[in-house]
Amino acid sequence: MTLAHVIGYPRIGADRELKRATEAYWQGDIDQQALEAIGRDLRLANWAAQREAGLDLVTVGDFAFYDQVLDVSVLLGAVPARFGAEEEVARGEVALDTAFRMARGRAPSGEPAAACEMTKYFDTNYHYLVPELRPGQRFRLASSRLFDQVDEARSAGHPVKVALTGPLTWLWLGKGRSDAGDDFDRLALLDGVLDVYVEVLQRLAGQGVEWVQLDETALVQDLPLAWRQAFERAYHRLQAAPVRLLLASCFGGLGDNLSLAVGLPVEGLHIDVVRAPAQLEAVLDRLLPHKVLSVGAIDGRNVWRADLALLRERLATARMRLGERLWIATSCSLLHVPVDLAAETTLDAELGSWLAFARQKLDETAALARLLDGRATAAERDRVEAASRALQSRREAPRLHRPEVAERMAGITAADIRRRSPFAERAVAQQRHLALPLFPTTTIGSFPQTAEIRADRRAFKAGELSCEAYEARMREEIARVVARQEALGIDMPVHGEPERNDMVEYFGEQLDGYAFTRFGWVQSYGTRCVKPPILFGDVVRPAAMTVRWSEYAQSLTARPMKGMLTGPVTLLQWSFVRDDQPRETTCRQIALALRDEVVDLEAAGIRAIQIDEPALREGLPLRRAEWQGYLDWAVECFRLAASGVRDETQIHTHMCYSEFNDIIESIAALDADVITIETSRSAMELLDAFQDFAYPNAIGPGVYDIHSPNIPEVAWMVALMEKAAERIPVERLWVNPDCGLKTRGWAEVEPALANMVEAARELRRRHG
Ligand code: GLN
Ligand code: ZN
Repeated sequence: MTLAHVIGYPRIGADRELKRATEAYWQGDIDQQALEAIGRDLRLANWAAQREAGLDLVTVGDFAFYDQVLDVSVLLGAVPARFGAEEEVARGEVALDTAFRMARGRAPSGEPAAACEMTKYFDTNYHYLVPELRPGQRFRLASSRLFDQVDEARSAGHPVKVALTGPLTWLWLGKGRSDAGDDFDRLALLDGVLDVYVEVLQRLAGQGVEWVQLDETALVQDLPLAWRQAFERAYHRLQAAPVRLLLASCFGGLGDNLSLAVGLPVEGLHIDVVRAPAQLEAVLDRLLPHKVLSVGAIDGRNVWRADLALLRERLATARMRLGERLWIATSCSLLHVPVDLAAETTLDAELGSWLAFARQKLDETAALARLLDGRATAAERDRVEAASRALQSRREAPRLHRPEVAERMAGITAADIRRRSPFAERAVAQQRHLALPLFPTTTIGSFPQTAEIRADRRAFKAGELSCEAYEARMREEIARVVARQEALGIDMPVHGEPERNDMVEYFGEQLDGYAFTRFGWVQSYGTRCVKPPILFGDVVRPAAMTVRWSEYAQSLTARPMKGMLTGPVTLLQWSFVRDDQPRETTCRQIALALRDEVVDLEAAGIRAIQIDEPALREGLPLRRAEWQGYLDWAVECFRLAASGVRDETQIHTHMCYSEFNDIIESIAALDADVITIETSRSAMELLDAFQDFAYPNAIGPGVYDIHSPNIPEVAWMVALMEKAAERIPVERLWVNPDCGLKTRGWAEVEPALANMVEAARELRRRHG
């Protein structure tokens, strides 16, 4: 029979129980014992759900109070010295509070210390804590949590498979710094890491665990030769452990690592055939006759219901060739999708019938395995029927396919993705139109989202505040924000975005083709969850979205008010996107809707419009070879949104980072008149990117780190801008913070902006 399992399951709970409990613990409202009990209940419920759905193994090891990569660091005793945990490591039991201090810098007990760095996990929106590595580092088994969880699952009577980040991927995700601050070879630490993995595997075997899944996601990326060799070395060593290893590769194809992966001495291989369907054949041809192949056929990265009948057909050959050595799985951990569709009682029934969240994907996985065996129950056969009917209705649904969108898409011409004149000519027209001083000052868009603003929005959403009253409150706020910017002397003010809860949700709610869930939470990092919208159909803008706010703000000042939009790539990247057409097609549809908004803003008298693209860089594919293809359409979509305006209308864009070195040409190809970026924390990185490439347009290298409550000093900001002036002509430099101000308070913002304006004045005195 075909075995069914998942690579991992969300741990947050259908009602974000884990978030609430963990935060309550941090605040001192519950003690550790109570928190541990809630964690155990969630695990037990998740395993029960897996069994109830008919999976043959439950996955243990996917639970973490904060992050699963952090938990492996703790398991290996890789706790940086500043957390003072030598004794805990030596004792073999790192305290929960130590892990929390690594994650957040503080915990109910223990001294505060600088938190570990957090960054995005491969190409997901999940953030992990970066393992901190140093030369000569020692490792030691330093936690019994995993083993306790195995006992828990076994006492509950479940057949257990353990899942754990693999040793190479853990090192791959880590950052190695020597005392001198330079990078060192992380692979030098491999042997020490493997010692602990061997010990872990032995202990698991002693507990009666048969299968251990080692997640080696690094295998779907471009690996240097030394790393491929390290894979061979590592798995030859782990081979001796008395358990069966399932080597898991998720999020993409094995590509040029395929021979490496199929050749490693493990008992099983997991591949992702959602992202990389073509690799199934190649792997089938190469797999040794004793190995298990776990086929990740149920999409763990998106919310669409699976076409079980189609999958049965596609996998029939694999079933025939592998017999019982075929396993059926999700493509990756279900951590990346919401927990349970059953909670969505307000979603319209038709749309609901097209979706599957984590709980539903358990059923799909089990049903597919049994279908392939020809032993599906009547209920499962019904499920296949129902899925086919739902998918048929999805394919044919008129609201997915709007003829006016198809027509417009077909009519896009080269002229639509080009401004009328080159930047040099536009700059002259804009200067006439805007009359800005040298080193003009502006901000990135949002101003503090005060408690009053949030209370107003809550009241409005709860129906306690009428639409008129809510809009009036927001206008009052806009008037306050504009007056404050006038008083500060900001040259290009913004309206402050008080009416926006979130930069994606705000636009998604006003566009056809988007749907919103009530409980579709996905873990972003730690206890922070996000609720990505679902982009299900052709995108249409039924009415202007931001014009009345910008128009009102402009009516309050003679200075040029900057309009504010979220860009097409970011609206795509931070949503669950339809899978029935290429992502670039969907992105182009969003770009067309935004283009209309840009043109409407111009017609309403807005002379500068910012189109934010903070997610442009994170959309980069996992393989270098695919970067350019992505960048080409991403740039084209931005230009499609931006190019409908006259020369004198100034287009800005903003990105929350400055790592442009490897994509600088695409950034330039956006052809935004002004780009504002983050550089305040690393003045040097800006210089790096501009070393070999002369950025052609205007740029505002953020001079003030909004992530810090500190008030930046005038001299410091002047010095930063002087550095920038070494690379970029002063006529093309802007002075601005490095991101939006919505998370800050006015008490910090006012003096900081006052200093920023003062810095600009000093720069004008020097360069004017
Ligand atoms: N305009 C947005 C703001 O100021 C930009 C946010 C972002 O870059 N993530 O909040
Ligand atoms: Zn930003």
